[in-house]
Amino acid sequence: MGQALELVIASRTLAEHGVIDAYGHATVRSESDPQRYLMARNLAPELVTEPDILELDLDSRPVDAKGRALYQERFIHGEIYKARPDVMAIVHNHSPSVVPFACTGHALRPIFHMSAFVGLGVPSWDIRDAQAGSDMLVKTAYLGRHLAGCLGSHPAVLMRGHGSTVVAENLQRAVGRAIYLEMNARMQFQATLLAGPSGRIVFMDDAEVAANVSWQNYERSWNLWRTKALAKLEAERKGEATP
Ligand SMILES: [Zn+2]
Repeated sequence: MGQALELVIASRTLAEHGVIDAYGHATVRSESDPQRYLMARNLAPELVTEPDILELDLDSRPVDAKGRALYQERFIHGEIYKARPDVMAIVHNHSPSVVPFACTGHALRPIFHMSAFVGLGVPSWDIRDAQAGSDMLVKTAYLGRHLAGCLGSHPAVLMRGHGSTVVAENLQRAVGRAIYLEMNARMQFQATLLAGPSGRIVFMDDAEVAANVSWQNYERSWNLWRTKALAKLEAERKGEATP
């Protein structure tokens, strides 16, 4: 299966899980040229089909946009791909449960085995440290570089008042991480309420995190998500369903 179709599946899966709304985007580094990445044209991810997928260089300039509009926040992707040669896929999203963590200084911690990667550390980025009075969007290479610097070698970074950006060595892992990051945030918030001010929450420890992260590729989930997305695309092609 081609990378463009995989990206369509990723976009639709993230929309279906409420991780990406009309905004937010997934990208994948090109298999044929690591100095390029694939990204949809400026469109709600749930509506993306293969012809919408464009190729951009790492300065986030389109190879041939054919006049189509681009996402303003594409610099998040280009600058992280530059800074992290190990990263092959990125999901930027506004999933709601992580936002309260970024603006209160409460660190996300691994509460659930499907989100063990949280134990590798999820820093929090404040755009105000890079630019005062911004509209909160990462619209320049400078802001993208600043965000990539905060991400460092971690699997995800929270963005104050905005959302998060998740990275991985392949697309299905990036999608899985984005979905389970949202779930981890929700569960951690619920556990905090249940435990009360002096209560104890038992998080996964470093050894458990290492033992899980080494193999977790969301294989069964990805197979399910891909099957559902392909069925929906086929129905749309036949005129039996609308996105
Ligand atoms: Zn955004």
